Amino acid sequence: MTKKWGMAIDLDRCTGCEACVVACRAENNVPTAGEDQAARGRAIHWIRVERYWEGEFPNVKVKFRPVLCQQCDDAPCESVCPTYASYHTDEGLNGQIYNRCIGTRYCANACPYTVRFFNFYNPVWDKPLHLQLNPDVSVREVGVMEKCTFCVQKIKAAEIEAEGESRELKDGEFNPACVQTCAPKAMVFGDLNDPHSEVSRLARSNRGTKLLGELGTKPNVTYLEREAWQDENS
Ligand code: SF4
Repeated sequence: MTKKWGMAIDLDRCTGCEACVVACRAENNVPTAGEDQAARGRAIHWIRVERYWEGEFPNVKVKFRPVLCQQCDDAPCESVCPTYASYHTDEGLNGQIYNRCIGTRYCANACPYTVRFFNFYNPVWDKPLHLQLNPDVSVREVGVMEKCTFCVQKIKAAEIEAEGESRELKDGEFNPACVQTCAPKAMVFGDLNDPHSEVSRLARSNRGTKLLGELGTKPNVTYLEREAWQDENS
């Protein structure tokens, strides 16, 4: 059966440590913008951890929400791309074909989650940091839009290995870098078409919500909202 990749993020478990952000940068060759470019709003983060405060000091409650591409079924970024660089894969991913992108940035303007990033410059890795680049992931050049792909290179590697061994992929056999790194296991990745996968079970949770779901984008990321008692005791 065709896969439909999705993710569940338990906001009760997320501690806001940002290990997922660091792991994503390392896995996907995400460049560091530097102070000047960041000040102009040109920093690139395929995943960010949003922080919310409630109340006044010292009775402050802090909440975290990791935000990445929601891999929407009805993605607004896809319909506005004049070159079909932003497209939907048959496994439910919102793909980005870098060598088709002509940099109109329509997609970034259409995305309500602000998870698409334009390369305003050619990225530079000072030596010896260039040695850490992942050879399985292209380094994007100036003029190209980039975004989270649920680490599609890891998905493909696992699929090819399973096919070579004439077997089905097992639930949890591999994970995107962010999920792999999350110590409290706030993030769960898997096949939403498999009703027995952990991500399917969590997506059916009565704590499950979609980010800006009212927009009709049909995200494939489910957020498990905090239990009320957590908020009372935090
Ligand atoms: S690594 Fe896990 S706990 Fe840390 S910020 Fe990311 S999702 Fe939250």
